[in-house]
Amino acid sequence: MKIIDLRTMRGPSYWSVKHYKLIVMKVDLEDFANVWSDAVPGLDSRLMQLFPTMGQPQPTVEATKYSTKYPPLTHEQLSDGEPLGHVIQHVALELQRMAGMPVYWGKSYPAREEGVEFVVFAYQEERAGRAAAEAAVQIVEALCKEQTIDLQPIIEELHEIREDEFFGPSTWSIVAEAASRNIPYIQLKNSSIIQLGYGCNQKRIQATTSSKTAYFAVEIAGNKNKTKAMLHDAGVPVPRGTTVYSPEGLQDAIEELGYPIVTKPLDGNHGKGATIKIKNWEQALAGLKAAQEYSRAVIVERYVEGDDYRLLVVNGKLIAAAKRTPAAVTGDGVSTIQQLIDQVNTDPRRGIGHEKVLTQIKADQHTMDLLQGQDLTLESVLPVGKTVYLKSTANISTGGTATDVTDLVDPYNVLLAERVAGIIGLDICGIDLLTSDIAIPLNETRGAVIEVNAAPGFRMHISPTEGLPRNVAAPVVDMLFPPGSASRIPIIAISGTNGKTTTTRLIAHIVAAKGYKVGFTTTDGIYIQNKQLQKGDCTGAVSTEFVLKDPTVNYAVLETARGGMLRSGLGFNTCDIAVVTNVAADHLGQRDIYTLEEMAEVKAVVPRTVQKNGWAVLNADDNLVYGMAKGLDCRVAFFSMDENNPRIREHVEQGGVAAVYEEGYVTIYKNSYKLRIDRAVEFPVTFGGRAGFNIENSLAAALATYLAGFERDEIKTALRTFVPSATKTPGRMNVYRFPKFEVVVDYAHNTAGLEKFAEFLNNTPATRKIGVVSGLGDRRDEDTLGFARVAGRIFDEVILRQDRDLRGKTADELREIMTRGLRLDKPELPITYIENEMEAIDHVLATAPEGAVVVLLTENISGTTKKLEEFEQSI
Ligand code: ATP
Ligand code: ATP
Ligand code: MG
Ligand code: MG
Repeated sequence: MKIIDLRTMRGPSYWSVKHYKLIVMKVDLEDFANVWSDAVPGLDSRLMQLFPTMGQPQPTVEATKYSTKYPPLTHEQLSDGEPLGHVIQHVALELQRMAGMPVYWGKSYPAREEGVEFVVFAYQEERAGRAAAEAAVQIVEALCKEQTIDLQPIIEELHEIREDEFFGPSTWSIVAEAASRNIPYIQLKNSSIIQLGYGCNQKRIQATTSSKTAYFAVEIAGNKNKTKAMLHDAGVPVPRGTTVYSPEGLQDAIEELGYPIVTKPLDGNHGKGATIKIKNWEQALAGLKAAQEYSRAVIVERYVEGDDYRLLVVNGKLIAAAKRTPAAVTGDGVSTIQQLIDQVNTDPRRGIGHEKVLTQIKADQHTMDLLQGQDLTLESVLPVGKTVYLKSTANISTGGTATDVTDLVDPYNVLLAERVAGIIGLDICGIDLLTSDIAIPLNETRGAVIEVNAAPGFRMHISPTEGLPRNVAAPVVDMLFPPGSASRIPIIAISGTNGKTTTTRLIAHIVAAKGYKVGFTTTDGIYIQNKQLQKGDCTGAVSTEFVLKDPTVNYAVLETARGGMLRSGLGFNTCDIAVVTNVAADHLGQRDIYTLEEMAEVKAVVPRTVQKNGWAVLNADDNLVYGMAKGLDCRVAFFSMDENNPRIREHVEQGGVAAVYEEGYVTIYKNSYKLRIDRAVEFPVTFGGRAGFNIENSLAAALATYLAGFERDEIKTALRTFVPSATKTPGRMNVYRFPKFEVVVDYAHNTAGLEKFAEFLNNTPATRKIGVVSGLGDRRDEDTLGFARVAGRIFDEVILRQDRDLRGKTADELREIMTRGLRLDKPELPITYIENEMEAIDHVLATAPEGAVVVLLTENISGTTKKLEEFEQSI
C-alpha cells in the first residue's frame, strides 16, 4: 500500500462544508486492491488487539456525543467485511485520539483509478493528521501481512506534535469562547498570535495578553520592585524587602528584615531561582546564588506566612480566585517518595504538558534540592500521613493543584484585587497573594500581595482540581468584542467557470464607490483599497486570509477558484453572499474532478458556506448552477438574461428576488416590481451591449450588491464608471483602436467562454476577423478540440501559436489537435503557424488588413499589453 496523494483541507471543501480540518489522501492498495477486511484471515482480531479502545465507551460526555454521531469501527463490522480504506480511516482517527486529539469524522470511497481509495479523516493538528495518515497505512498493511507493529513510538510522536502545535489551555479557552460566539479566528503563521475577527474589526491575543494589553503595564508587572512600590504607595500590603546584588548587600538586608526571608530574581517567573523560607546565613547565600542564575538583581523580602492564592481580574472585575498547592506526596509508611510520585501520576487527570487538566509530577533538580534540605531522597520512605512538597511553587505545569475559591473571596479582597489590576494597568491581570484565608480581609490576616502577573494562566480556573470550573475566557471576549460590536467584515465570494474575475471586479468597484475599504482577490492579484499588493493567481485560501488579516479592510470581495478549493479548501468558513456565474467544461480530469456534475459540486461549496441570513446569487440560465439552490441553508436570488425564463417567473411569483435583462435594461425584479438599474449599453463593460457575457456579469454584480444593501443609484453610477482596460481588467476584453484595425485582448480559455466571446465578435463589424490562438496542454483532448472548433467558426484566419508552458503535452500533439478542431467546420480555414507568441503578434500587426479585428487570446497578459503599447507608439 502507498499514499499517492495527500492534501490538507483547512476550510470548507468539496469533502465537507462542516468539517474544516481534514486530511484527504489517495491510497493505492496495491496487493490489497479489492480486498475487504473479512477476506484477510484474523485481521479483525489483530486490529482489535492493537486498538482495544476502538469502539469502546468514551471517556467523556463530549467524546460520547461525537462517537455516537460518528461511531468508530466495531469488531463485528470488521469481521463482516469493511473496505480497507475505511479501516485506514478509522485507524488514523484512533491514533490521534490515543494521542489526546479527539477527532471522529471521516469518510472513504473508491477513487476513479483501480485499487485506489480516497480516505478522508479529521485532524486536530495538521502535522499530526499527516503523520497519522502515514502511520495508519503502514499499520493496516502490516496487520494484513501479519507483521508485528509497535504502536508506542507512533503515539509518542503524535503526542509530541500535539504538545508542540496545539494552543495552550488558556489560549484555547479564549479561542473556543470566541468560536462559540461565531467570532472567526486565524492563527497567524510562525507565531503564537491568534487573530480574532476579520479585517478592521480584528483583535489579537497571545496566550492571555490581548491587543488591548498595555506594554506599559506589562513592563511594570515584570519588575517586582516597581510593582511593590506602586502597590505600597496605594496602601496594598506587600512584603517588606529590598534589592541586592552581592553577599554584602544581602547581609545588610537581613540585618534590616530579620529571618525568615525569601530570595528571588527581580524579573523571574514560574518560581525559577526562588528560595523560600530562608532561616540562616548559609541558606541565604545559596538563595542569592540560585537567584543570580536568572538576574544579577535579587529581591530579598520578608517571608509571608500563608497559602498561595491567585486572583484573576479581567477588564477591572474580579473573575476567579484559586488556592494553589505545589506538587506534593503523602506517605503511607511503605512506599518510597519515587513510588508515591508514580502513584500520583497514575491519576488519569494527569497528562503530559497541557494535554489534560493536571500535569504529571517530574522529580527534577529543584525537587532533589528540596528533598535534600529535609535530609530526604527519592528512595526515602515517608511515614504515614507525612506530606512532602516536591516543588516550591504551585504552578500547575510543574504538577501543582488548584482549588477554586471564587465564591469565598471577602469583598475587601475583591476590591483590593480590582484596585491592584487598575494600579498596574493590566486588562487581564493575575494577582498572587499569600494569606491564611482568602475569606478574611487581607489587612486582618497579615497576608500580602507578592506579585502581579501579565499573561496569567487560565488552566487553574477553567479546570481546577477541586471546585467549580470558571469560564474566565468569556469576560476576555466580552472585553475585546463588547455586545453589539462587529467581529466580522462582509464577505462576498464569487465562484463559477467563467466571469469570476470580471464579476469580482465589478462588485469591488461598486462597493468601493460607496467608500468602503475593499480588499479583493482575483486571478491577477490581491488588491487592498485598489492597490495591487500581490501579483499572480490569488484565488486560493492564502489570498483570502491575506485580505481577512488586513487591518484596514472593511469589506472583502473574493474570487474563489476551483484549484485552491481542491488543494486546501476555502480560506473562510462562512460568507454573506456567494455568486456562482456558471459551470462549464474546463479543468475536467484535473485533481480527481472528472464530470461537469462533480465540478458543480466543487463550485457549490461556496454558496453552501453562506450564513443563514445571507444570499446565494445563482445563474438561473445554467442548469447546474440553478440546481445548487436545492439544499442551501440560506436565501437564494437568481439572475437571468431572459425575464421569461420560467424559473425566474416562478421564483418571482413566490416573492423571490431576481435580476434580469429586459428591454435592454439590467433590472432587479422583486415581487412583481421592476427596479431598473440602467440600460446595459450604458455600462462600458458591455461594449455597447455587444459583450453579452458582461451583461450577465453585470446582472450578477448588480444583484449581489443590491442584496448587500446598496442603492440603485450607487450601483448604476458605479457600473457606468467601470471602464474595462488593460489596467482595470487586465486581459479581459481590452480593446485597442488603431488607425487601420482594432485589437481585442481576451482570456477566453474554454469552450463556453469562447462561445460567449463569439457572440461579441458576431456583433462586431469587421472586414476580416483574425485570431491568434493556442491550445492548453492541461485540458482533455475533447475539450481542446471543442475550443478549437469554436475558434475555427468565428475567425476568418488563425495564427496558431504555442503557450510557453505546454503543461504535459508535446508541441506536435497540441498543434495536431488544434488544427483538426479549427478545420472541423471550416476545412479551408487559413492557419499560419508561429510558435512564439510575440512573433505571432508582430506578424499579425504587420499583416492585418484595413478594417480588420484582431483577437489575441492570451495568457501572457503583461507581455501582450507591452507589445501593443509599443506598437501604438510606433504609429
Ligand atoms: P510565578 O511566575 O510562578 O508566579 P515567580 O518566579 O514570579 O513565580 P513569585 O510569584 O514571586 O515568583 O514566587 C513564587 C512562589 O514563591 C510564590 O507562589 C510563593 O509560594 C513563594 N513566595 C514568593 N515570595 C514569597 C514571600 N515573600 N513569602 C512567602 N512565600 C513567597
Ligand atoms: P479564470 O478561471 O481564468 O480566473 P474567470 O472566471 O475569472 O476566469 P474572467 O477573467 O472574468 O473569468 O473572464 C475570462 C474570460 O471568460 C473573459 O475574457 C470572457 O471571454 C469569458 N467570460 C467572461 N464572463 C463570462 C461569462 N459570464 N460567461 C461565459 N464566459 C465569460
Ligand atoms: Mg508568581
Ligand atoms: Mg479569474
